[in-house]
Amino acid sequence: MPAAPDTIPTHSRSERESSGGYSGWRLLREAITGHRGWSRAWAKPAPRPRYRVVIVGGGGHGLATAFYLATQYGITDVAVLERGPIGLGNVGRNTTFVRSNYFHPQNIRFYEFSLQQWEKLEQTLNFNAMVSQRGTLNLFHTEAQRDLFTRRANQMRLLGVDAEAVSRERVKALVPLIDLDNGRYPVLGGFLQPRGGTVRHDAVAWGYARAASAAGVDVIEQCEITGIVRDAKRVKGVETTRGFVGADIVCLAVAGHSSRLAAMAGVTLPIETHVLQAFVTEAVKPVLDVVLTYGPSHFYVSQSDKGGLVYGGGLDGYNTYGQRGTLPMAEELAASAVTLMPGLARLRVLRQWGGVMDMTMDGSPLITRTPVDGLILNGGWCYGGFKAIPAGGITTAHLIATGAPHPLAAHMGLERFASGHTVDERGAGPYPYAH
Ligand SMILES: Cc1cc2nc3c(=O)[nH]c(=O)nc-3n(C[C@H](O)[C@H](O)[C@H](O)COP(=O)(O)OP(=O)(O)OC[C@H]3O[C@@H](n4cnc5c(N)ncnc54)[C@H](O)[C@@H]3O)c2cc1C
Repeated sequence: MPAAPDTIPTHSRSERESSGGYSGWRLLREAITGHRGWSRAWAKPAPRPRYRVVIVGGGGHGLATAFYLATQYGITDVAVLERGPIGLGNVGRNTTFVRSNYFHPQNIRFYEFSLQQWEKLEQTLNFNAMVSQRGTLNLFHTEAQRDLFTRRANQMRLLGVDAEAVSRERVKALVPLIDLDNGRYPVLGGFLQPRGGTVRHDAVAWGYARAASAAGVDVIEQCEITGIVRDAKRVKGVETTRGFVGADIVCLAVAGHSSRLAAMAGVTLPIETHVLQAFVTEAVKPVLDVVLTYGPSHFYVSQSDKGGLVYGGGLDGYNTYGQRGTLPMAEELAASAVTLMPGLARLRVLRQWGGVMDMTMDGSPLITRTPVDGLILNGGWCYGGFKAIPAGGITTAHLIATGAPHPLAAHMGLERFASGHTVDERGAGPYPYAH
């Protein structure tokens, strides 16, 4: 497979309609000429009647798939159809963590490949995505939990991925605010993936949209898919709020809406949709420079570059397409935060939001063909799909371009549920809310 280019390819339309390359020199030139040379970051074409590939959903995975189709496979007759503006889906709603500290070897390989792409993403896209490898620290609070983490870390190290055991003392050095001996769940130690960290989420959407557009892809906003047209065997195109758009291949990359969209083509998916919340506090001086996860409840927190503490937890636990969330979860997460770092009790929460999660029966994603010829699915990301965006894009582009699964995503087919080869990362069984 050819490597991703280091810079985005030149495309005549991008010369006309987008801002051109970003660089220090360009910034200086614009600064002294009154910033009159900037224009929109990506073109705003109207949908054409037909494309070779239509990607439904302008989130991280849809845009990345389009970008890699154009730049790695030379397929530019591609449209990304997004019902709203770019970046308002989960790609702009997540807590921005990237890591590859998984347990199953297939998942470790896939997410590690993704982490390697994040490490060079800004050069690949010519866009500042604020990639920050500040480390991901998972705490353990019981001997059993330590054994589980040790097993996971050993598995990672066997596959050449960074994972370190961390003593209580080192945890305290890394997170001075922590109360190691808190009355509820004293901290026994932790596991660190030093290369894990955060990436500014909306910059990822904007960077991929801009680079895909410059590579020749039509990124079309405010274009909702209302139906999928197929014959007995094959997909023919999509009905949209801006008319019918024909396609040889339709790829669904709609995250929490996967089951609804697949149902338009008569396909039932092993997915439930749930809501997951995130919270941001007021900004304070730097107090936390790792991504921290707390073992007893599902709680994770990092500090944004603006100073707010960004935190989240588990699913609210009921099926919904509402992007709101409930108060009990807000309360549970506040309790976790204060147990772990009592000083946080003095912070005010400024913002809260929810996003809808496409939870699969085994907690692992789907990059797969479907029973309808030409209908491809990228979905089932549960609440871990942000970190997967570069690898998800590359492997979905591979499936579209070659018709065969990418070796790194070969375990993500729909057929695993029929054959029993599920990849149950958490060992939770077939309960989507539990993954
Ligand atoms: C609160 C929260 C915290 C999270 N934290 C993390 C984290 O720290 N790390 C991590 O790895 N992952 C995290 N995730 C998960 C991650 O954000 C998602 O798994 C991932 O973003 C999903 O892929 P996407 O970016 O393509 O989805 P989206 O951005 O949701 O893209 C799907 C797009 O499809 C569009 N769409 C839907 N229906 C239609 C239609 N009919 N027609 C046209 N367009 C349509 C939507 O508008 C949307 O823009 C979190 C998610 C949430 C909500």
